[in-house]
Parts: sequence; structure tokens; C-alpha cells
Amino acid sequence: MKRYALLVIGSGPAGVSAARGYLDAGGPGPVCLVSSDGDAPYERPPLSKEVLAGQSAPQGDPIDGEPLPETVELRLATTVSHVDPGERTVTAGEEVLGYDQLVVATGARPLPLPAVDADADVHMLRSLDDARRLTQAAEHARTALVIGSGFIGCEAAASLAARGIDTTMVTVEAAPQRERLGEHAAAAITDWLTGVGVTVRTGASVTAVRAPRIVHLDVDGAAGTLSPDLVLVAIGVEPGAGFLAGSGLQVYEGRLVADEHLQAAPGVWAAGDSARAMHAVAGRALAVEHWGDALAMGELAGLNAAEPDRPGAWSDVPGFWSTIGEHTLKYSAWGDGHARAEVDARPGRFTIWYGDESDRLVGVLAYNADDDYERGEALIAQGADLAAARAGAQPPTGSGLGAGADEAAEESDGEVGREG
Ligand SMILES: Cc1cc2nc3c(=O)[nH]c(=O)nc-3n(C[C@H](O)[C@H](O)[C@H](O)COP(=O)(O)OP(=O)(O)OC[C@H]3O[C@@H](n4cnc5c(N)ncnc54)[C@H](O)[C@@H]3O)c2cc1C
Repeated sequence: MKRYALLVIGSGPAGVSAARGYLDAGGPGPVCLVSSDGDAPYERPPLSKEVLAGQSAPQGDPIDGEPLPETVELRLATTVSHVDPGERTVTAGEEVLGYDQLVVATGARPLPLPAVDADADVHMLRSLDDARRLTQAAEHARTALVIGSGFIGCEAAASLAARGIDTTMVTVEAAPQRERLGEHAAAAITDWLTGVGVTVRTGASVTAVRAPRIVHLDVDGAAGTLSPDLVLVAIGVEPGAGFLAGSGLQVYEGRLVADEHLQAAPGVWAAGDSARAMHAVAGRALAVEHWGDALAMGELAGLNAAEPDRPGAWSDVPGFWSTIGEHTLKYSAWGDGHARAEVDARPGRFTIWYGDESDRLVGVLAYNADDDYERGEALIAQGADLAAARAGAQPPTGSGLGAGADEAAEESDGEVGREG
């Protein structure tokens, strides 16, 4: 049996930056990265934006512009089906591999739509291979239907419309992203989508898809049917650590449970979309599904795997950027809900401040308002209240919620690089 000093499962941003972080910290080899994906690690965010819009080819840009270090053995198209944390082994394809330190970064996969014929021609978008098939279909499509109004659905609908495809989006929500971001953001997103020609049908649920692409809908109680040339299902994701159930590791709703050092068990670390980790500043377990956070968590897991006796804590405030057509939203938030939202709307820009039941700031959404986004991120880290954020307060120094708060605020100072 081959044994590795570090074994990483997953070739997304969390897995790749875990391997890089581990090597940067001087961790010993050999290092192996195993992934179900058949392509070398690539940037995922462009797939729903410029790639789907036809502005760049689906060639797979390396993560952060760099290939993996040559010392990392890359085993592609290989799925890990079992982990034995007692023996420190994994079953990868047909082979059993040993590890001293393991990073689980298995991400997430798109949720399938129920009631779809097995031979129906529907697309989902997660991998580069998905993007190749989708863009190929888009080249021949005159009409497209996007099912779901999350960020992937909104970005994809705008991109398909930018190709000149007559695009419809259907969503069960009363407006795109209304539940997550509130009324104002939902109205802005609707305007951006309709502005590029997307037809947005709200309160609409898909009841069945019959082969090849006959989509049955229920719109506010009335039945309807659409037969587009292309169907994209984007109704959310399912975290990818479910396969660890029964391994002795703790799994919650498909995510590997970890402490604030991202440690799930001795020698086992969790990062990215498949992790549910205690957050040092929030003081509670969080699950985040963002590119920049996967990079940051992966790096921390790699550093901690290299130096397990001096582990660092997860303290960054989670967040992401999303680009819908020409419009970029920047969001920073704990991500587990809000009780109220206060809107500061000015010509050409807006900021939404989100508060919890005690009026503590838990999130900020900024459009053309980078100053608020950066300030908000630091204020969230420091536990400021909603009124302070609204009044334009600058983040105080030397106070905070806990050990990681000041560090998180310092790190966030001037940082705007969450875009993928
Ligand atoms: C089209 C698209 C656009 C996006 N745009 C943005 C954006 O603009 N901003 C943003 O913040 N976020 C964006 N996201 C979300 C972001 O890509 C994810 O949050 C991020 O990729 C999560 O990284 P990860 O490393 O945790 O998991 P992933 O990137 O999902 O990687 C997981 C890896 O694990 C592999 N794997 C899974 N199970 C196994 C197994 N059992 N054995 C071996 N390998 C396995 C998978 O093949 C994959 O390589 C986008 C996502 C998509 C799909």
C-alpha cells in the first residue's frame, strides 16, 4: 500500500490550496491529490459567466493562474469511496492508500430535479466537462430555460441571453434571491435579468420534465408546458461529504463536521463547500459555499496539517462576488440568515445591511459600493450593530468578539479579491 504524508481528496480551490498551503509551510512529502474530476484543477466561476456567454472557451484556467506544484501526485478521474480514520487509509478507485494527514475537500454537486425522465436532455453546471456540454448545446439553441434563481441560475440566464438566446428563468421564489437577500436585491436582480432579455417567471415550479425537453410547470396553480432547445437545472447543491457517513467521522447534512482549526479527527481536516466548521469569530458552526472561502479554508487546513501542534483558527468573514451580466454584487455575511435588512439606495449603487434579532450586523450586500463592502466586512467581524453600520461608522480597532476578530478585520482591510 502506498502511503502519503498528505492526501487531499478533491481538486477544487479548497483541495488545491490545501496542497499548496501544506507545501508552503514546509510539510514533508509525498503529497497526493485525488479527484473524481477528469480535468486538471481549474477556475470554476468563469463557467457560468464569460464561458457560458461565449466570451471565452471552456479550456479550464488553472486555479489562481498556476498549475499544481510538480511534487504533488495528481490522481484524476478517481473517486474516494471510503475513509478509515483509525487505520488512516482511503479507498481510491480500486486502490487502498495510506495517509498521515488527510484533507477532505469534496465540495458539492448540483441537486438533481425530481421527476425528470432518465433520457431527458437536461444540463447541470458544476464541472468543466458540464460547461463543455452546455456551451456546445448553447451554440445550437435558439431558446433556453433556466430552472432556479440562485446565483448560478441568475448568472447563467444572463450569459445565455448575452449569446442572443431567447432565455426564460423559472423560479419558485416570488423574485430571484428574495428569500436570501430580501426585496430590494431581488428587484435589482430582476431588472438586470429582464434588461438583458431574460423572461423571469416567478412562483413557478417544475412538476416534471419529459424527454427530450418538455418541461411541465405549475405557475400559481395553473399548469403550463415549455419546450426549449436547452434546459439548465440550477436549483442548488448537495454537499459532497455524505460518503463519509459510517466512517466514524461526524457528518451533518452531507458536510464533514470540524472544529475551529478545521480538524474533524486526529489527522483529518475539512475545507470548502463540504465542511461544516466552527467559526472562531462567529462562535458557531458555519457552512459556506464560496470560491474565496474555499481557497482560504483549504490553505488553513493545509497549514494546520503541516503543523498540527500549532493550528491556526478559521476567522475570515465569509463572502463572495457574483456577476450577473454587467452587474457585480459583493456579499459578506455569516450566511446563516438575518432578521432585518436596511437599504441604502443611491443613484447607480446600493448597500443592504443585514441584522440579527439583536440588531447586530450579520451581513452586507454592496452594488457599486466597495467602500461599504470593505467597511461592512470589518464591522461584521467586530460584532458592530446595525445602527453603526448605517451611520457610516468605521470599524473600531482593539475591540472585538474574540481572539480572531481583530485578525479577521485586519485581514479584510482593503481586501476585495473574492471574485473567481
Ligand atoms: C459555475 C459556477 C460558478 C461559480 N461562481 C462563483 C463565484 O463567482 N463566486 C463564488 O464565491 N463562488 C462561485 N461558485 C461556487 C464555488 O465554485 C464553490 O464554492 C467552490 O468551488 C467550492 O470549492 P471546493 O474546493 O470546496 O469544492 P469543489 O470546487 O466543488 O471541488 C470539489 C472536488 O472534489 C471532487 N470530489 C468530490 N467527491 C469526491 C470523491 N468522493 N472522491 C474524489 N474526489 C471527489 C470533485 O470532483 C471536485 O474536484 C461557483 C460555482 C459554479 C459551479
